[in-house]
Amino acid sequence: MNFKVPRGTQDILPAETWKWQQVEQIIREVCDVYRYKEIRTPIFEQTELFQRTVGDTTDIVQKEMYTFTDRGDRSLTLRPEGTASVVRSFIENKMFGYPDQPVKLYYSGPMFRYERQQAGRYRQFVQFGVEAIGSNDPAIDAEVIGLAMDVYKRAGLSKLKLVINSLGDTACRSAHKTALIEHFTPHIDEFCSDCKTRLDKNPLRILDCKVDSNNPLIASAPSLSNYLNEESVAYFEAVKGYLEDAGIEFEVDANLVRGLDYYNHTAFEIMSTSEGFGAITTLCGGGRYNGLVEEIGGPTAPGIGFAMSIERLLLAMEAEGVSFEVAPTLDVYVVTLGERAKRAGAKVLSALRTNGLRADMDYTDRRMKAQMKSADRLEANHVIVIGDEEVDEDVVMLRNMATRQQEKISTAEVVQKILQADKEG
Ligand code: ATP
Ligand code: MG
Repeated sequence: MNFKVPRGTQDILPAETWKWQQVEQIIREVCDVYRYKEIRTPIFEQTELFQRTVGDTTDIVQKEMYTFTDRGDRSLTLRPEGTASVVRSFIENKMFGYPDQPVKLYYSGPMFRYERQQAGRYRQFVQFGVEAIGSNDPAIDAEVIGLAMDVYKRAGLSKLKLVINSLGDTACRSAHKTALIEHFTPHIDEFCSDCKTRLDKNPLRILDCKVDSNNPLIASAPSLSNYLNEESVAYFEAVKGYLEDAGIEFEVDANLVRGLDYYNHTAFEIMSTSEGFGAITTLCGGGRYNGLVEEIGGPTAPGIGFAMSIERLLLAMEAEGVSFEVAPTLDVYVVTLGERAKRAGAKVLSALRTNGLRADMDYTDRRMKAQMKSADRLEANHVIVIGDEEVDEDVVMLRNMATRQQEKISTAEVVQKILQADKEG
């Protein structure tokens, strides 16, 4: 039997994990300067958590969740996104009582969605996201957006487009909802079956439908921007002002509605405008969710956050031709000839590693020439050669691969010698 990775998943091999680690490092550094702290929540949660927070009418809940019943007959779901878990944890751990509000958290880890596989769309993917919970200040909206932009810029991306919109508060959304229902009801037969169920529950989602996106009724639908009340307009203006002050360019798109039910006020997406990037150009999506904490049993605690996948970030870097740092190579490769030399070599190897030097040796009893080839392939900076003669004299042959200089040196001194050479070199 031949086993393969499950559809929509991938193995990330060492040449790629090296890139992942660099991106993860950038993420940690950016979150650190903005004072966002990492939170780690379980990979699965009670199914109902996602139904309640993400929303019953969303694609995620309707078709994309990996849901299973465990041996105790509980319905659990592999998390499809991160906000629900963070908000659950915020409430469960009473973070609303922390003296410093908002609570600023970030997460990074695998998410699971049963989707059609295509470039940039996987069934298991890694999302990095932040949540700032406990403040309704438009300045924090601009901070969260700025943080996402900083990650992309630090990763070397320049072909970016930030699109923002306001979804208003509950009052404007409900007036807009009525208008949408009136607009779509006479023609609902032209729409897909999902849209038919969305019509009464959440007609805003029709605007976001992937099947019916070309129907002219979508373009002619009443725009939410005409339903924003004074407070919502003022809030949106303030967010824009903070973005401008921070020198962050943006476009307003009145048709931007995010997929999840829980958003209000600020919604945003960041796209790649790089030509080399495929059909899916959205790198990051986020927005404000003022009622969510209450919705699942917490106190009033307005929040805002975003999520981006590392997979799409790496694809965008590739499309823009961003170069990665070169992976560090070996400091030392130990070449040995014969049984006694092998034992002496293993001892030196252990001393090298204890001193923090990247070192390795041969474990397949190859001849000297093959071992030297390995040292070349692994781009070792130094090679230590040990044969019977060296063992007898308690010395090693140390070769500097850059200068090709070679010297006999006592076993006791070789580690210090290499550390010294590395410091100078
Ligand atoms: P899309 O419209 O592309 O399906 P979405 O609205 O479902 O996106 P969100 O739930 O907002 O996406 O997730 C935020 C980000 O997570 C996306 O902008 C994208 O970078 C990433 N993402 C979402 N789904 C996937 C996936 N299946 N594979 C890889 N990355 C994904
Ligand atoms: Mg999706």
